[in-house]
Amino acid sequence: MNSRILLFALLSLAGCTADKASENSAERLGLQETTYGRQLIEDSAAKANNILGFRDTHRFVGSWQLTSPSESKTEFVQVYLISPESVSAVYSIMVPNNCGCVFIQPKALEAWIARYSISVPHMLSVTPSDIVAFMLLHELGHVEHSDPGEFEAAKDPNSLNLDETEQKTREEQADNFALDLLTAASTDMDSLDGWLEAQSMQLALANLSWNLSAIRLLDNFGASVLCSRAVFQDAGYSHPNFELRMLYANDRLTKSPESHQLFASFEACRAKPQPLNLLEVPSEP
Ligand SMILES: [Zn+2]
Repeated sequence: MNSRILLFALLSLAGCTADKASENSAERLGLQETTYGRQLIEDSAAKANNILGFRDTHRFVGSWQLTSPSESKTEFVQVYLISPESVSAVYSIMVPNNCGCVFIQPKALEAWIARYSISVPHMLSVTPSDIVAFMLLHELGHVEHSDPGEFEAAKDPNSLNLDETEQKTREEQADNFALDLLTAASTDMDSLDGWLEAQSMQLALANLSWNLSAIRLLDNFGASVLCSRAVFQDAGYSHPNFELRMLYANDRLTKSPESHQLFASFEACRAKPQPLNLLEVPSEP
């Protein structure tokens, strides 16, 4: 059986038991944990927890960090670092089914962040823990919404589309969940830690959005000018176009004429009719 299909089957069918805090979800699924990347995740979890602030419903904690049973209503969302031998790099961060936890493959996540922060000259600075903290808040959205896990990561350019799917809607809702938390923290001056984290994370998202545009123009200038489907549409049916998501996030947080213009221009390109014989340029190497 293909390893991706096997993982899908394991994560989809083997739901967690009710006693989430006392079990090791990675072990139960036969996945090996790694110690690599703990510092990044501890920093990111601390930032995400500051954004959660007075909301005492959830707190992120590494699976390696001991937690004492809490009498409050706080639920610990355990973050497991999964060894690259256990999971395909496609799954850099995800929420397994019915688990209320997050699986991260640190090396794949680091490579992903490096691509969007240091892979070409003149990129703007992005602190990795700011981006990972935002991702954790997005994953918490999936937990809160009881979404099934994210498994469809089609990379086939033939699957380029603008279709509305349930999975894409779930992703948009998880993005909005994280953005609502960031917006709340950025206007709450009573929680200075949360306010400072929110400013830092908003800057990181704005810079990431700029970097994505820079990569698109450097790698696919012709495709950008022609509004090629390969760059502007969605690759697969599980996630909306990543650059569009970041432009939307930046616009929601920044609310400037410039941020809105960037978002609107991208959407206009997506909607532009495509000639049938238009040469498409893949956006990934
Ligand atoms: Zn998601």
